[in-house]
This record gives sequence, structure tokens and C-alpha cells, in this order.
Amino acid sequence: MAGCINEIGTRQKADNISGLLGEASMEQYINKLSLQAPPKGFLLRIDIDDLKGINARLGLEYGDMLISKIAEFINSYILPGQKVYHFTGDQFIVLDFLGGTEEDGKWLYKRIRTSIEHFIEINNYEAVFTISAGLVMCDDVEGFTFSALIKPTEYALSKAKHLGRNRCYVFDKKDYTNFLRKRKLMRELRRAVNSGFEGFEAYFQPIYSTELKSIYGAETLMRFHSEDLGMISPAEFIPILEETGLIIPAGRWILNQALGACKRFQSIIPGFRISVNISPVQIMKSHVGSDVISSISEFDMEPSCVTVELTESGFLESDTRFAKMWNKLKDAGVKLALDDFGSGYSNFRYLTTLDPDIIKIDQIFTLKASESDFEYNLLMLFCEMAHSLNLNVCIEGTETEVQLTKVQSLTPEYIQGYYFGKPCSYDDFLKLIQETTK
Ligand code: C2E
Ligand code: CA
Ligand code: CA
Repeated sequence: MAGCINEIGTRQKADNISGLLGEASMEQYINKLSLQAPPKGFLLRIDIDDLKGINARLGLEYGDMLISKIAEFINSYILPGQKVYHFTGDQFIVLDFLGGTEEDGKWLYKRIRTSIEHFIEINNYEAVFTISAGLVMCDDVEGFTFSALIKPTEYALSKAKHLGRNRCYVFDKKDYTNFLRKRKLMRELRRAVNSGFEGFEAYFQPIYSTELKSIYGAETLMRFHSEDLGMISPAEFIPILEETGLIIPAGRWILNQALGACKRFQSIIPGFRISVNISPVQIMKSHVGSDVISSISEFDMEPSCVTVELTESGFLESDTRFAKMWNKLKDAGVKLALDDFGSGYSNFRYLTTLDPDIIKIDQIFTLKASESDFEYNLLMLFCEMAHSLNLNVCIEGTETEVQLTKVQSLTPEYIQGYYFGKPCSYDDFLKLIQETTK
């Protein structure tokens, strides 16, 4: 092994181990190789879990000693030609450009772990600690510059930590691509929210009233158009908005879009009703009930023309925040809909404890009912039960004439689905209702 030792940061002890190189020399080494093709082998990035905690409990010197120990263990297991670098504070990278396999990388990690376990034991459990590692096969790296090789190791290591530490995570290219896409989308969504919701659009899907035999309202559905990635499905971007909390401003924005649009739709169809979806995050982390009520008064709307749709995942019976919001909206005369009923776990008890105005049957349930007699009978019994509790039923996902005939025999109050119209832009929805009321 080359004897050159670089000094990194303030912790130099580990670098005194022979054969251990610093981050700068790793970059130099890779540059010097001036690789023309991806190397064969792997990179193993190792990190001590919670060194901060050890430093706090046993002192910095103890922490430094552990770093040196781990460096020693790594050094004793690497093969001639493999290189080990002290990357940052408590991180090491083993570089194998010798054609090492995934099994070789995992083997190395396991050996180091076993040495650590032994070390802990002979030191009478003075400090119990673990290491995490990210293993990247060179074949999975795009490009072969220093930074192209390092970036995936950063991801693989953070994934190992995220999965609960004390493990070696093997880099998965597909997973990494998804991660990069999500990160990009996250940035774009944040930028869009902070620049007047550019890229966001409110779509409207007609809701048909079986009593009036006409379109009676619409569900507002959010859309996001990314400059780079194109049209993104809400199934992808709503969870990101929720994770980042951006659903709070975006939810307020769509609420105002919905109410503004509803005012215009009411000039064509008097009493037109608009539905908005509310996420559990909005309930837990904002005053969404007050937002809805103040928007309704700002737009000078009849509260009963507004329906708030909530999925079961938003209900925490014991949560007073939720109960407060629910009662506030109910008292104000806003309609409440229990969304996605029949998808996965559906708690029948909510029907009586929450007393919603409308139950929305999930499109999966509708599809199953149109394909199986058993599911159809189940849906029929459910609709009968909801009606006996004086609840209105809206059946979603009605796409074809055949489905419509079946659905109508269940006497729901409302039907929603592609048969009556797909979600569309404000202008298209306006055209649709203008035509149907001609
Ligand atoms: P959801 O609330 O259950 O909305 C109904 C979804 O079913 C919509 O998907 C709609 O396009 C789709 N759909 C309606 N009829 C049919 C049909 O006949 N066949 C099929 N195959 N699909 C139909 P979309 O617009 O992709 O929205 C997906 C989900 O994203 C929504 O499910 C809702 O949970 C969430 N979402 C959308 N907009 C918002 C929003 O503004 N706020 C919140 N919190 N969530 C939203
Ligand atoms: Ca909905
Ligand atoms: Ca739904």
C-alpha cells in the first residue's frame, strides 16, 4: 500500500495507521488512473453509528481511539491492491478496483463487524457501538470520475442508516434513480409553491346526481406540471407535498381555486357543489377547518355547497385536533365526505361515530363489483346499510355503460367516473356544463 498519509480535519489519529489514505489522496488516485472505462470492483463506505453519542458519553479521546481501532480492523482485512481511505471524521472508504464481487464487499463488512463485536466484549462493554456501510458495485456507477464514484456511496450509506443502522446496504441503481427523481420533484414543488403556484393547476371532475339526472357538482383534483419531468400524477406528488408540509400552502391554494371556480359554475348550474380533498397532514399541522370556513365567507358561498373529502387515514379518533376540525365544519354547515371507502381497511364504526354526509365508494370496489357477483352483493349490502343510516352514497370509478347500469341498480345519490367525464381543466369543465345545460 502507498505510504502517503494526508491530514484530514482535526482527527488525525486514524491516519497514522499505515496504509490509510485521506480523502484528497483518493481523489488524486482516481484522477491519476484517468480511467477510460468503468473499473471493475466495488466501493465500500463505512461509518460508525452515533459516534456523537459515544463522544458525549466517553469523551472525544475515546471516540478518536475507536476511529483508530476501526481503521486497524479495516487495514487488517483488506487485500493487497485494495485501498482504504479515511474519508471524513468517522467514515472510511475501501476501494476495490481489482474485480471484487458483491460477496467480497459484504464479506469485508462482516469481518470488520465481527472484530468490533469482539473488541466490545473484551472491553467489558464499555462502549457498545455499531457500524453501517454502503456498498456500491462499480458496474452500477455512471461515469468514473471521483465525484461520480463517491455520490452513490453517500446515498448507499445514508440508506443503510435510514433502514436502521448496523447494516450494509447494497446500492440499487433503480432505487437511486427514484430517489433523484423525488429530490428533483421536491425542489420543483417547493419552487412552484414559492413562486405563485406556477405549474399547479386545479382540475375538475363532474359528479352526477341520480335524483336530478344531471351533473350536480365536481371534485377538485390537483395537477402539477413540471418543466423538466412533464405532467406528474397526484399519486406521486401529493405524498411529497405531504412529506414536506407543502400540502398546507398548496391545500389553501387549491381550496381558493375550487371556491372561485364554483362561483362561476353556479352561474350556469345554480346550487352547484364543489368538493375538495383534505390531507391528514393539513389536519395535524394547520388550521384547515378555519381556513375552509374563512374562504367560504370570503367567496360569499353557501357552506352546504362545499364538501370536504377525507380518507380514513386522516382519522385519529383519540385526536382532539381532528374532532375539533370535524365538528367545526359540521357546525358551519359544510358537507363531509368519507373518501376511498372499500379500499383496503374500512372501519364500519366510523360511519356512526363520525356521521359523515357522504360515503364515497372507491373505484377499486366499483371495479370489483362490476366483475364479481360476490363483490356486487357486498356493495349492495353496504349501500343499503348506508341508506338505512341516512347517509348519501357516491360511487366512484364508473367508466362504462355496463358499469353504469349495475351501479344505478344500487341507487346511489351520486355517481362519479370517466363515464360522465374525466378530470379536466377549468375551461374544459366550463364548456362541458355549458353544453349539458343548453
Ligand atoms: P381521490 O380523491 O380518490 O380522487 C379520485 C381519483 O380517481 C382521481 O385521480 C380521478 O382522476 C380518478 N378517477 C375518477 N373517475 C375514474 C374512473 O372512472 N376510472 C379511473 N380509473 N379513475 C377515475 P387523480 O386525479 O389521479 O387523484 C388521485 C388522488 O390524489 C386522489 O384520489 C386524492 O387522494 C389525491 N389528490 C388529488 N388532488 C388532491 C388535492 O387537491 N388534495 C389532496 N389532499 N389530495 C389530492
Ligand atoms: Ca377524493
Ligand atoms: Ca376517492
